[in-house]
Amino acid sequence: MEPLARIENELKKCVKCGTCRAHCPVFSVLGREPVTARGKIALARGILSGSVPIDSRTREDMSKCLLCGRCVEKCANKVPTDLIVLAAREVLARKRGLTPFSRVISLLLGNRSLLNGLSMLAKVASPFLFGRIPASSGLRLRFPFRFLGRRRIPALARRPFLGRHPEVMEGRPGRPRVLYFVGCITNYIYPEIGEAAVFLLKELGCTVIIPNDQQCCGFPAISGGDLDTFRSLAEKNLAALEKHPADYVMTACASCGGAFHRLYPHVLGERFPELSSRFQALAEKSVDAAVLLDRLGFEPACNGTAAGQRVFYHDPCHLRSRSVVREPRELLRSLPGLELVEAERSDTCCGLGGTFNYHHYGTSMGINAAKITAIGNSRADNVATGCPGCMLQIADGLSRGHGRVRVRHLLEMLADGMRGNP
Ligand code: SF4
Ligand code: SF4
Repeated sequence: MEPLARIENELKKCVKCGTCRAHCPVFSVLGREPVTARGKIALARGILSGSVPIDSRTREDMSKCLLCGRCVEKCANKVPTDLIVLAAREVLARKRGLTPFSRVISLLLGNRSLLNGLSMLAKVASPFLFGRIPASSGLRLRFPFRFLGRRRIPALARRPFLGRHPEVMEGRPGRPRVLYFVGCITNYIYPEIGEAAVFLLKELGCTVIIPNDQQCCGFPAISGGDLDTFRSLAEKNLAALEKHPADYVMTACASCGGAFHRLYPHVLGERFPELSSRFQALAEKSVDAAVLLDRLGFEPACNGTAAGQRVFYHDPCHLRSRSVVREPRELLRSLPGLELVEAERSDTCCGLGGTFNYHHYGTSMGINAAKITAIGNSRADNVATGCPGCMLQIADGLSRGHGRVRVRHLLEMLADGMRGNP
């Protein structure tokens, strides 16, 4: 019970007003009280007091949270439901063990050479393992297995991003030194995002540092309740990033940035005082790519390279909750000829929620459906966003009926705008 006992005061802050019900994406689809923030907090209190059994039903209810933080933003008392859910999942994992899926995830994340080897194997075996879907959908493969919910996914990268560039690429004198934290989805699935990041930073004169020994941020491990793997990955990342003096640590993945800003200081820093100041320093130095480019004075080529593009911008939850909403839009608007559509539902959750998508694929795609309808109504031909995880989820949704719409990372669009590519 220790993780919940530590935040007992936070649990008491909930006055059961129910405001959070109107904003919870999971409740909007399932319509059941236990899945709301208020329901989860009541469940967590019950676990702590011993009135709620630690059984599969409790685990199931506690797993129905995207950790999107929408309820925290809307709650007048700022009850940190996301941190409460993580603490409850940790208790459940300790008492009942990790789920088989979380065990596999933790094993893979804790061993990057194993992950690299498996990604090579999966790439070679993908023609036999996966069903093909039309290239026009923007995705190339789908899982054919019923237990994986017939997800549609892009092919793995030919070569992971990490290791493609020298660790340190010197920039112009007087310009900032930027450590780039890549993240797993960019590394294994969308290395083009990493290439765009390097291109943009170099064009802006920055020294670009990509520590090769950086690891997964650990978000998938802690979202399954595995504190030990989360802590171990976080400590390895600290060591990898602290080796290089730098002005900024840049993330181009909303979830990695969310881990640095919220989870490392609160889940780990408050628990392990000997690491607290190091996590705090990392949180202060880390910055989302859109904010950094805005600060550094990004300027696109002056010809109308994005002419005719109608773009829907999707706010990833872990950027919206950090108020990173102005910069990505202003950067997009700076591209000559690009039309940014201000559409409804641009700031709602896409439904991915890390491991939520695996455990509750139907609900996840139910949440996604509202976003896809809004994209369709906006008549956009491109969706831009700042999170590779959201890209996977939105591309999956679009592949079923809106295959003409492309999903791209903001950095890819900006790199094209700076290069003068259409
Ligand atoms: S979590 Fe906040 S918004 Fe939800 S019921 Fe409790 S006090 Fe109200
Ligand atoms: S974090 Fe998101 S999914 Fe979880 S209870 Fe809050 S609003 Fe609902």
